[in-house]
Amino acid sequence: MANPFQAIRGMNDILPAESALWQRLEATLRETLAAYGYREIRLPLVEKTELFARSIGEVTDIVEKEMYTFADRNGDSLTLRPEGTAGCVRACIEHGLLHHQTQRLWYAGPMFRYEKPQKGRYRQFHQVGAEAYGMGGPDIDAELICLSARLWRRLGLRDAVLQINSLGSSAARAAYRERLVGYFAARREALDEDSQRRLATNPLRILDSKNPTMRALIAEAPSLLDHLDAESRAHFERLQSLLDAAGVAYEINPRLVRGLDYYCKTVFEWVTDTLGAQGTICAGGRYDGLIEQLGGQPVSGVGFAVGLERLVAMLAAAGQPSAGAPPHVYLIVAGDPAQRAGFALAERLRDELPDLRLQMHCGGGGFKAQFRRADHSGAQIALVLGENEVAAGAVAIKPLRETGEQLTLPQSEVAAYLRAAALERTLTPSNPD
Ligand code: ATP
Ligand code: MG
Repeated sequence: MANPFQAIRGMNDILPAESALWQRLEATLRETLAAYGYREIRLPLVEKTELFARSIGEVTDIVEKEMYTFADRNGDSLTLRPEGTAGCVRACIEHGLLHHQTQRLWYAGPMFRYEKPQKGRYRQFHQVGAEAYGMGGPDIDAELICLSARLWRRLGLRDAVLQINSLGSSAARAAYRERLVGYFAARREALDEDSQRRLATNPLRILDSKNPTMRALIAEAPSLLDHLDAESRAHFERLQSLLDAAGVAYEINPRLVRGLDYYCKTVFEWVTDTLGAQGTICAGGRYDGLIEQLGGQPVSGVGFAVGLERLVAMLAAAGQPSAGAPPHVYLIVAGDPAQRAGFALAERLRDELPDLRLQMHCGGGGFKAQFRRADHSGAQIALVLGENEVAAGAVAIKPLRETGEQLTLPQSEVAAYLRAAALERTLTPSNPD
C-alpha cells in the first residue's frame, strides 16, 4: 500500500545525509555576515497579510498568486512570509531600531510561496537575507555586494556573475514607465498573456519576463539607464567606482528589474548558468521608500537575499562532500553489568574530551552484531566492554579501520589514550576545515 502521508508538494525534507552541507553553508554565511558587522534578527514566520500586500505591492506575482494566506481563528488575515524584508522593516519600526541610528541586520529561515515546484523552485525554501538601514549612499550598496562576493569565495563557488542596474528615483521611473508603455502598446500583439496584463498593471515587470519568445522585444525596449535622474546616475557611477576599487567584477544589465515593487536606484543579482533555468542565487537592491510606506520615518533601506537550496545544489555539483562527520569511537557493551559500566565510562569520556564523538551501542545484541554496527557507523575505534573487562575495570580497544593491535587498558587511561590518538590523527580531527 502506498504511504498515506507524504510531504506537501514543493516542501522538502532535508535528510541527515544532506544536513552537514547545509550546516557548513549556514556557518559560512554567519561568519561572513559577522565579519562585516551584521547582527542577527529573528522574526516570526507569520505576519498580517496587509504587511506583504502593502510592501511587496498588490500587482506582483507574490501578492497576486503566491501567498499562503489564511484566516486566524479571530478572523484576522494572516500570511506565511514569502520573503523577509517586510517583517524585518516591521520589527525595526515596532522596536524603534531606526531612530537616529543605522542598522546592519541579517535573518535566516524558511519562506513560503505557492509557485510551480521544479528544480531550484520550491514552495517552502530557505533564504538568508542582509538588510542595512539609515544609509542612503552607494557605499553601503557596495559593502553589501562585497559581502556577497566574499560569500561565494569562502564557499569555493566560482561560477556566479554579478549583474547590476539602477532603477532610478520614483519620478524617473514614472517617466520611463510612460515611454515603456508606449513602446509595448505599439507592439501589443507580440506580448504574451502575462505581459499584456502587466502592461496595464506593472509594465516594468515585463522586462523581468522569463518567456524566451519575449526576449527580442525586450532587448529592443527603451533602456532604463537612459532615463535616470542626475542623483541616481551619480549614485550608480559611484557604486561602480567602489566595486572597481574593491576588485569586484560586474556586468551592467539595463533589463534587470526586480520582481518586487519596492526597489529604487541600485538593484543587483548574482546569476549562474550551472543550475539550469533557476540561475539566480542572490538578489537585492535599494528600497528607500518602503520604511515610510510601512509607517516608519523616511529612512533608507538596502539589502539582499540568497536562496539556500540553490547554493546547496551548487555546492553539491562542485563536489563538496555532504555527509556529516562519523563518530570517532563506538562503544560496545555486552551484558547488563557492561551496559552500566559503559554508561559511566561514556559520560566520563564526554566530560573529559568535549570534542569527542562517541556513539554508544544501544538496543542489545551480541558482540558480532554490535561490531557490525560499529563498522557501519564509520567510527575509527571500537571500545569493548564485556564481562571480563568490567571485572578488571578495563576496556578493550580495537582499531576498526586499520590493522592495528587490539589492546586492553584500565578504564581510567582511555581518555589519555584517545587524546594521544587524536594528536597522531588516528582519530580524524572534529573539524576538517
Ligand atoms: P526568481 O526570479 O528566481 O523567481 P525572485 O525574484 O522571486 O526569484 P527573490 O524574491 O528576490 O527572488 O528571492 C531571492 C532569492 O531567493 C532568489 O534569487 C532565489 O535564489 C531564492 N528563491 C526565490 N524564490 C524561490 C523558490 N520558490 N524556491 C527556491 N529559491 C527561491
Ligand atoms: Mg519569483
